[in-house]
Amino acid sequence: MILFLPLLACLVNDVPPPQRTIALTFDDLPNGGAPMPIDALESMTRKLLGALESAKAPAIGFVNESKLEVEGEQVRRTAVLRMWLDAGFPLGNHTYSHPDINSTSLLIYQEDVLKGEGVTRQLMEEKGLKLEWFRHPFTHTGADAQTKENLDTFLKRKGYRVAPFTIENSDYVFQAVYARALQRNDDALAAKVRAEYLAYNDRMTAWFERLSVDTLGEEIPQILLVHANQLNADVMPEMLSRLKQRGYRFVSLDEATKDRNYTRLDGYVGKSGPSWLHRWAMAVNKPNRMRDEPDPPAWVIDAYKEPR
Ligand SMILES: [Zn+2]
Repeated sequence: MILFLPLLACLVNDVPPPQRTIALTFDDLPNGGAPMPIDALESMTRKLLGALESAKAPAIGFVNESKLEVEGEQVRRTAVLRMWLDAGFPLGNHTYSHPDINSTSLLIYQEDVLKGEGVTRQLMEEKGLKLEWFRHPFTHTGADAQTKENLDTFLKRKGYRVAPFTIENSDYVFQAVYARALQRNDDALAAKVRAEYLAYNDRMTAWFERLSVDTLGEEIPQILLVHANQLNADVMPEMLSRLKQRGYRFVSLDEATKDRNYTRLDGYVGKSGPSWLHRWAMAVNKPNRMRDEPDPPAWVIDAYKEPR
């Protein structure tokens, strides 16, 4: 009997989970993808924010102000942004109309950055907050060294901090398939997309945890990039609970970026928008692992590519 005691003790005393932290960042506010009808947008936002508040998970939302300009709905669409602030979540600038620096002149891009801050800055100031975070659309930061440097200098001069990310999960791909399933009232397909998306998020989280150790010798505070959309609103309680099970504690973007690793050099110049873990690896001449990232399931990609 005595022989079994250590085993029993092991089973009874849960092994404490690792101390991990993650910041949640949501792009393309008020919503990613095709503009949602205003009623649906309000209820999606309420559901998403409710899940974050229940899990006491801080978040930040990056705004495309062009999406507020739907005739007769400007006030209600602006009020959706206020819902984020009322829930205690700050906003950042994601440009006015989501241009791609790879195919836009620097001058036009810079104008779009400035055009994108009017409403957001005012809403932040109403709450006594300063607008400081900027995220590049597509996280494209400049295809050549000169453009990248000029854009960086411009953003700094305007008082912005660039919001990095370390984990992404191609949520926009799953969301496109999900939106079609909901539209056709195909509940089975919708449930399948939710399950696959959650599984893929687990896979990507594990992959980037490993990349962090391989690149930096440790797991750093992670930053997840997702979009404000129906899929995330619907799965958020489960996604947060799975992250908790992996040992994650939720922190703000400000908190996560206090880690000294976030002062590392971004060594990537090119047309893609990779994770900062890749960018830091390239700065110290470690192998480029961008192509090793796990892909979403083939059937999801195929369905995403299907003509509507
Ligand atoms: Zn975006």
